[in-house]
Amino acid sequence: MAPPMTVKVRFAPSPTGRLHIGNLRPALLNWLFARREGGQFLLRIDDTDRERSREALTEAIQADLTWLGLTWDSFARQSERFNRYAEVVEQLKASGRLYPCYETPDELDRRRKRQLANNQPPVYNRAALQLSPEGRAKLEAEGRKPHWRFLLANYKGTPQSPVRTDVSWQDSIRGPQTVDLASLSDPVLLKEDGQYLYTLCSVVDDVDFSITHVIRGEDHVTNTGVQIDIFRALGAAAPAFAHHSLLVGSDGEALSKRLGSLSLGAFREAGLEPMAVTAYVAALGTSDPAAPAADMAALAARFELTKLSRAPARFDDRELADLNARQLHETPFAAVSERLGRICPGADEPLWLAVRGNLRVLADIAPWHAVVYGTITPVIKDAAFCASALAVLPAEPWSQETWGEWTAAVKASTGRKGRELFHPLRLALTGVESGPEMKALLPLMTRARVAERLEARDAEPSAA
Ligand code: GLU
Repeated sequence: MAPPMTVKVRFAPSPTGRLHIGNLRPALLNWLFARREGGQFLLRIDDTDRERSREALTEAIQADLTWLGLTWDSFARQSERFNRYAEVVEQLKASGRLYPCYETPDELDRRRKRQLANNQPPVYNRAALQLSPEGRAKLEAEGRKPHWRFLLANYKGTPQSPVRTDVSWQDSIRGPQTVDLASLSDPVLLKEDGQYLYTLCSVVDDVDFSITHVIRGEDHVTNTGVQIDIFRALGAAAPAFAHHSLLVGSDGEALSKRLGSLSLGAFREAGLEPMAVTAYVAALGTSDPAAPAADMAALAARFELTKLSRAPARFDDRELADLNARQLHETPFAAVSERLGRICPGADEPLWLAVRGNLRVLADIAPWHAVVYGTITPVIKDAAFCASALAVLPAEPWSQETWGEWTAAVKASTGRKGRELFHPLRLALTGVESGPEMKALLPLMTRARVAERLEARDAEPSAA
């Protein structure tokens, strides 16, 4: 019996921009799939385009993935594998599957326009295959350098007469898929300037790194048809494929224009929790409601590729912001203590438990830290009432019961109840209209601090 296959997936960004909500999706789906299946996750940097690839962006991609907890089991860069691609190119040339073409972009463009004008599909006509050795030599003598195309296996007799050739696969998200190779141009795999193109490098890497599942956006569906043909030409088995739908905004519009502001860097600057971002993105395009998750393992445990719908996934900033708040409400102190120490030194567990339910982002804790342990400007609406409340303020030690005991005493001594009773006390003690339960805040404050606030004569005009 064959040994059980070890699942291995890859996330393959091109370092030409920061990661954003759009390409975070394949990163996360691959990562969760690997964890769920007890498999391996490869981070592969697709940097064969030396002009456009930036080392700083490769580093930023790694930093963003690390911030989210998307660790990788192995790492590869295409720019370090040129020797290997050269070998494969020679192999494909030798088997007649890679052929040199000399058309300039202008010539190709004119030909495409003529085809369209004649109602023909704009597919490359393989004219270069008919060049004689002399014809080729002549072009090279003119200084032309060839680019190299992969001869798709879409013909029976002569390559000049392609016939319908379906390449099919069972897509783990989209179900049965078919691409007709006769509808496509032979893809360029090697450019005039010697640059290897993604279509080839990706297949070579998927073979060499024993990738078992390719999970990527549905904009690659046609590529997959072509790449399956390349796997075959190399005598390799193709991996399984899953193509997820693309993201749209909450209004159904493409997100492309907004992606800059939806970068992971921007999320981080906005103070979003990495766990909220991953929990939100994991739920996108599924019927699962976006819900906080204890950690990445919990997220992986509830992950199924089959939960992903074929319909476009809708990204909504407000839903993400709301999930961030809900995520914080459930976060234990131990999980934030280090970061809290940096943004709000002195914030401790009792404070965290009292106020986490009122935070939208972690930094929102600062004013509550000041309320409990620091200085604020109390708002005194009714000085006489505050003085009567002070008169019955219980002695320390205080507990969660103290607020109830105190306000009962204030009610008894002043005859006030409901909002009339509670609101002026909240304003005096916290300086703001609303916030965490007073019952939880009060025992964290000292009696001296509370007394001082009740006695304050601040800039606010009193109600009297
Ligand atoms: N570098 C490719 C991209 O970012 C990778 C696609 C793939 O997963 O094969 O689109």
